[in-house]
Amino acid sequence: MFRFMRPAEAALPRLLILDDEAMTGATLQRMVALSGFAARHATNADDFFRLLKEWAPDVVSLDLVMPGMDGIEVIRSLGGQQQKALLIITSGVGSRILEAAERSARAHGLDIVGFLPKPFSAATLRQLLLKTQARLAKRPPVVETASLPERELSVAARQRLVAVRSPAAEPGPSVVDLRTALDRLEIRLAYQPKVDCSTGALVGFEALARWIRPELGHVRPEVFIALAEQHGLIDELTCRVTDLALAWLAGLAREAAACSATVRSSLEQVQLSLNVSALSLGNQALFERMVLRCRQLGIASQRVVLELTETSAMQDAITALDNLTRLRLQGCHLSIDDFGTGYSSMVQLVKLPFSEIKIDKSFVMRATSCEESRAVVRSVVDLGRSLGLSITAEGVEDEATLRYLKELGCDSVQGYWISRALAPDAVIPWLLAHEARRLPH
Ligand code: C2E
Ligand code: MG
Ligand code: MG
Repeated sequence: MFRFMRPAEAALPRLLILDDEAMTGATLQRMVALSGFAARHATNADDFFRLLKEWAPDVVSLDLVMPGMDGIEVIRSLGGQQQKALLIITSGVGSRILEAAERSARAHGLDIVGFLPKPFSAATLRQLLLKTQARLAKRPPVVETASLPERELSVAARQRLVAVRSPAAEPGPSVVDLRTALDRLEIRLAYQPKVDCSTGALVGFEALARWIRPELGHVRPEVFIALAEQHGLIDELTCRVTDLALAWLAGLAREAAACSATVRSSLEQVQLSLNVSALSLGNQALFERMVLRCRQLGIASQRVVLELTETSAMQDAITALDNLTRLRLQGCHLSIDDFGTGYSSMVQLVKLPFSEIKIDKSFVMRATSCEESRAVVRSVVDLGRSLGLSITAEGVEDEATLRYLKELGCDSVQGYWISRALAPDAVIPWLLAHEARRLPH
């Protein structure tokens, strides 16, 4: 292992390049090395897979078009090995093909960090490498794929191994852990602001479940929501989330008492979005309880938005339709979340009484860089408008995207550019700072 590494390189993240053009590969390798990576370059698949095994890179950069073995075959084979390295796709092919390659890579369980269209500029590459470094920093540590004795591992690999053995990287939670967490009230909520696309005024908050295990750290919502769904705990979780969020919303007006009249009045009308699993839709008692809670807390049901994703999992479509229609009649709003990703989005949109359409963040995040995503965003806005629905875009990460959505006439936006999901006690300070930015006078 050490024969590949100069000592100074040992602690750097490793990037392995596969490019059949030796010149391009070498240039890329030099530029990558200047950006704080240890870089290696292979011109054929055999060398690539050998280095992959021996050197265990953190990132691989793949050229899609090569004689002998094309990039898609490499992707398939990386997927088969359950490769954990981040993937960069480089190619001179058009964006439609790049998009298809991306879908294929995701379907094979690979983690793509971005594209490098050829010919590339130094600035584009640098930007992509910065993003890669940020992603690597956020990732849970990966165990070396090569099963070498520990003394033969690089410094970086040993550091990673230590991290893997530390409690922060214990295996995923079990259903018993989740049961205990529910009993011990360890599931908390964070609130992500949703603002008016053209004025920036606060429209609402989306409640997002958070589970931080004592000494073990964050569990991703996708992981524990799926666990709850598989083991019959989802209704209880939804109940807990609803209770917490409604109590928080009722308390918000009290907390805002000391703020200016504008802040107070915006908080009195602010909406609350709750995510509801398709599996809970047949549970009439759950919704009746929610409406009752609203009444007890003095919250108008018009302020509550229920967000639903893929409803093909609905056990009893008729009961679900009844429940949702009843909720709409009582004033609650209904939002179709992650629109554009489910196979049956369109069918659901027509079948269920939605009042809001939420464009999936995967399209929004790429709206400024990819023509296909831009086309999807544009047509979802058109569709929403012609159906008289309110349109929200989630995943707004930069100003250019916000400007584009404004031009299209999108109603509300959510995303890191506006704010990440906030802990309850960070909400009012965020709002005050946001209002000061928005209305400097
Ligand atoms: P979602 O409902 O589509 O929520 C949006 C997700 O996108 C959140 O992830 C949010 O933190 C993230 N996000 C927001 N803005 C940006 C952005 O600008 N860029 C990027 N990259 N991401 C952004 P989170 O909190 O990890 O939640 C993931 C999913 O878990 C949610 O997706 C929702 O489907 C589910 N979930 C969360 N809380 C609950 C819950 O209480 N009940 C149910 N049934 N599902 C929940
Ligand atoms: Mg949602
Ligand atoms: Mg979503």
